[in-house]
Amino acid sequence: MFNLVLFGPPGSGKGTQSDHLVARYGLKHLSTGNLLRKEIADQTPLGLEAKRYIDAGQLVPDAVVIGMVGAYFDQNPDAAGFLFDGFPRTVAQAEALDELLSQRQTSIARVLALEVTEEELVKRLLNRGKTSGRTDDTDESVIRKRFSVYTQETSPVADYYQNKGKFQSIPGEGTVEGISEALCQAIDAVR
Ligand code: ADP
Repeated sequence: MFNLVLFGPPGSGKGTQSDHLVARYGLKHLSTGNLLRKEIADQTPLGLEAKRYIDAGQLVPDAVVIGMVGAYFDQNPDAAGFLFDGFPRTVAQAEALDELLSQRQTSIARVLALEVTEEELVKRLLNRGKTSGRTDDTDESVIRKRFSVYTQETSPVADYYQNKGKFQSIPGEGTVEGISEALCQAIDAVR
């Protein structure tokens, strides 16, 4: 298996870039944000619990997210590899992911982090909020809250992978195609 993590703050372009990368490398896209929004749309108990956190700009509890990822993993036993998008978002999630992968004799090959300034991120998210129907993208105070959660809880995940020699930054501003090309070069170098 060949597994990648696409890392970066809210609005850094993980979802946009994921679409191209999964097609090009034949990976399964595992976006915890998408999985949670599906649970919300289906009005499952998990979705109802998650919605409270998402609408407040907070992280959904680790146990909920880790359980959901484990289930998705088990449902895709034949995957050639996964592209993790929006996960792991805490060090506890990163440790759980390592455990999950090692049980299947595999691991993360690379963590690619999209670097975008906060000013540009806020602009992108407010823009996305106009058309996406995502309530967490329409309120600037919720967006700012997500950034502070990112700094406090998610940034340490970068150090976690840096210490394993797996972390690589990619400039996330420019054309979608240009950023995609930079990601592909980084992936081809480790594949
Ligand atoms: P973005 O990266 O633009 O914030 P996502 O779709 O990745 O969008 O996530 C939306 C929201 O879903 C997050 O603000 C958070 O509340 C919740 N969420 C997504 N992934 C996780 C995760 N791995 N752990 C905890 N909460 C998560």
